[in-house]
Amino acid sequence: MPTKVDMEKIVSLCKRRGFIFPSSEIYGGLASCWDYGPMGVELKRNVKEAWWKAIVQDRDDVVGLDTSIMMHPGVWAASGHIDSFTDPLVECKSCHVRWRADTAEGGKCPKCAGELTEPRMFNLMFQTFMGPVDVKAELSGARSLAFGAPEISGVGVAKLEEQLDRATIYLRPETAQGIFVNFENVVTTSRKKLPMGIAQIGKSFRNEITPGNFIFRTREFEHMELEYFVKPGTDEKWLDYWVKERFNWYVKMGIKKENLRLREHGKDELAHYAKDCYDVEYLFPMGWSELEGIANRGDFDLTQHAKCSGRELSYHDAEAGERYVPYVIEPSAGVDRSVLAFIIDAYEEEEVEKEKRTVLHFHRSLAPIKVAVLPLSRNEKLTPLAKEVFRQLCPSFVTDYDDSQSIGRRYRRQDEIGTPFCVTIDFESIGDKQVTIRDRDSLAQIRVPIEGLDKVIETKLKGEAFDASTLWATREK
Ligand SMILES: [Zn+2]
Repeated sequence: MPTKVDMEKIVSLCKRRGFIFPSSEIYGGLASCWDYGPMGVELKRNVKEAWWKAIVQDRDDVVGLDTSIMMHPGVWAASGHIDSFTDPLVECKSCHVRWRADTAEGGKCPKCAGELTEPRMFNLMFQTFMGPVDVKAELSGARSLAFGAPEISGVGVAKLEEQLDRATIYLRPETAQGIFVNFENVVTTSRKKLPMGIAQIGKSFRNEITPGNFIFRTREFEHMELEYFVKPGTDEKWLDYWVKERFNWYVKMGIKKENLRLREHGKDELAHYAKDCYDVEYLFPMGWSELEGIANRGDFDLTQHAKCSGRELSYHDAEAGERYVPYVIEPSAGVDRSVLAFIIDAYEEEEVEKEKRTVLHFHRSLAPIKVAVLPLSRNEKLTPLAKEVFRQLCPSFVTDYDDSQSIGRRYRRQDEIGTPFCVTIDFESIGDKQVTIRDRDSLAQIRVPIEGLDKVIETKLKGEAFDASTLWATREK
């Protein structure tokens, strides 16, 4: 079943309205890298804030954390990422394009049907070097020396290689490990009892062989991860709890239920650390794809870090009078693909009073701009009052001020970026000190006094019914 909108339309709207631009565009772009524009950055912030509110703020059993992207390489050895975070890579013998083995079905190059090489395992972590190390220059220098006097300088090459090895670090491919290595710090300082969670939002990096589908799969992306620590034996119950909780979050934030589904991982597709895993999937234009994974990581990570660091990473359960290594339930979501799903799901083309309009029906808390102040025209009598209204609203909400072009075109523009409310100032406003609020979805209009307008907007943004008995309603002209 295809979705109502194709990806080209979404990409084009995102560019046109300032949500998402190709990265380094004036230099021809960089594959699968994207920049968030003025609308996109607000939307993305709102998605992260909504997640943080649901996971950290609204609960008493979860605390937050913000750890560094670069970590001790021992972390990735312990977590299994150096050995196991790999994809099988094949290369076309004719056109030399590289593919992830499972995307080249039938053993032929998807581009030119050429013959493929045998798959080799490719590690998805980005490598870099810490400190003043010029890898290329130093290695080639040492190698040319070794070439002249191999019996002396061969030792130098090996030494240098070892040095470079020591300087090699990785950009984190998930935020989770920053949480595991801080388990002891957080439990001690937060004085929380199990079950308890630690949440983190931050950038992750994966050198994907085949990124694509706009911001769905990119090599640099943002993660929203919760590690929820529980007593072994209660893990299945908590996995079930978090699967439901996370599925319902997307529904609560406005995604249509029919566009969401749950899928349990088969034993053969489980990650190396996982006991069990469910995906929340969304019906993207390219088909059902993962929005979020909720995994039971068992005690894999804490056990590994205890073993490799020599620190005891267990929990003393005072009530039960025992000490154990907690199990971990991990809901792990991608910010960027959530943003994409929210845009696609909100997208609608409809006919309003014989005119076509494109509208994004965002949940009010996600909309980049909450309210737009629109004087009926750019007129010297209207401008001071309209500016006064703008100044009243902008400390409380992300507010846009727009007085260019016809009022109809400005409404269309606000619809297309998903602004829930437009406030129009007309010539009557000068005398009666009232303005008109237009609702994005119903197109209903109400007239309210300028005094206290911010309170009215605040109530409407919360979705509470507003008592309009003293006001009058009209329909958009
Ligand atoms: Zn080829």
